[in-house]
Amino acid sequence: MNIERKRIERLSTGNGVIGHITLSKLAIPETVTVTLLGEQLVPISFNSYGHPNFTEEQERLFTFKHEELIRQNGGQYIPLEAEIAYEESSFDIPRNVFDTVDGIKSSLKDISTLNEMLQNRRIFLKAHEDCKLNEFILFGNFLLDQFGQVWSIEKSAKGNLTFTSDVDDYKTFATNNTDGFKMTLGGEYAIPPEKAFCHCCGKVFTLDDVKNNSCVSIDGKYYHDSCWRNYRKLIEVDKFTRRMMDLLYKNTDYSFELLPNGYCHQDCCSHIPWFLFHTIHGDIIMGWRKRVISIEWQENYKPFDMNDLFATENVTKWEKAGKRGIHAWSEEKAYEYLQSVLHTVNPGYSRW
Ligand SMILES: [Zn+2]
Ligand SMILES: [Zn+2]
Repeated sequence: MNIERKRIERLSTGNGVIGHITLSKLAIPETVTVTLLGEQLVPISFNSYGHPNFTEEQERLFTFKHEELIRQNGGQYIPLEAEIAYEESSFDIPRNVFDTVDGIKSSLKDISTLNEMLQNRRIFLKAHEDCKLNEFILFGNFLLDQFGQVWSIEKSAKGNLTFTSDVDDYKTFATNNTDGFKMTLGGEYAIPPEKAFCHCCGKVFTLDDVKNNSCVSIDGKYYHDSCWRNYRKLIEVDKFTRRMMDLLYKNTDYSFELLPNGYCHQDCCSHIPWFLFHTIHGDIIMGWRKRVISIEWQENYKPFDMNDLFATENVTKWEKAGKRGIHAWSEEKAYEYLQSVLHTVNPGYSRW
C-alpha cells in the first residue's frame, strides 16, 4: 500500500473544469481512497494512470477549506493536503507494441487504437521512471518523443519534408530532412482523443483527420482547422458589425466588404479579416494590428479635424493623402472613436 499527501489541483478540460490529484506511481483505481481532514472524499473518475479526478465543486470546496484554515491560523500560510492510499498497478503490455516502427504501424487501425498506443507510451514511463522511449515520426506530421509527448511539425513545412512511411524512426527522418523543421508541442496541433468531435461541425475525428493534420485544439476543445478558422472569421464579423457598426448606423445606412488581413498574411492571422465599411458619410477601413484596432477614414469620408477631436488620445494617429487614422486599444475605444467622428460629421444623426 502506498500513502501520499497531495493537493487537489484545478484542471481545465474540454468538458469543463475538474479537480485532479497526480500520484507518483500507477494506481489500481479500486484501491484508491482519499481522505481530507479526517473525512473521506470520493473521486468521480480515474485517468489512465488510475489517478483520481474530482468535480469542480469538490475542487472549490478544497480551496475554501484551505482558505479557512489559513484565516484560522492568523493569515499565516499552512499547507492543506489530502491523504491518498492506493495499491500500485503493474504495467505488462510488451514494449514492442508501442515502441517500435512495426508496433506503432499496427496501432494505426483507427483513432481509438492510435490513442491507446500513445497512452501505453505514457503509462510505460510512469511505471519505469528511469526509462526513455524511442522516438518516431507519425504520418510525417507528429513527433512521438522519448517522454511520451506528441509534438507537431509546423503545418507550413508539410510539403517540403521527406518521410518514407506512416511511421518513421526519428533519427532516419532527421537525417532525411537536414534543412530543418519547426516543432510545436501539443496545444493547437494535438492529436484528438478517442470520440473527440469538432465543436463546430460536430463530426467525430477520424484517423484521416490525424493523417492530414487537420485538427486544432483550443482551450481543451478540438476543431477541424478549417472549421475553426471559419468560426473565428465569423466572430470577427459579428464583433465589427452587430456589436459595433449596428449600434452606430441604421443597417440600411452602411454595407461592408471583407478585406484580407492588412497586418499579417501568415497562417496565424490570414483568417481574421479586415473590413471596408461603406457608410452614408464615406468609407472606413478597420482591422486588428496585433493588439490594436486600426481605424482609417478614407479620402471620400466627410471632413473632420483629427487633431481637434482626438487631441487628448495618446495613441498612434495619422493623416495622409486625405485619409485619417487612429489606433484603438480596445473594441470599446474603437466604438468611442467611431461615435465621436460620426457625431462631428453629422450631429443630428441617430441610429434609433
Ligand atoms: Zn469541423
Ligand atoms: Zn499573424
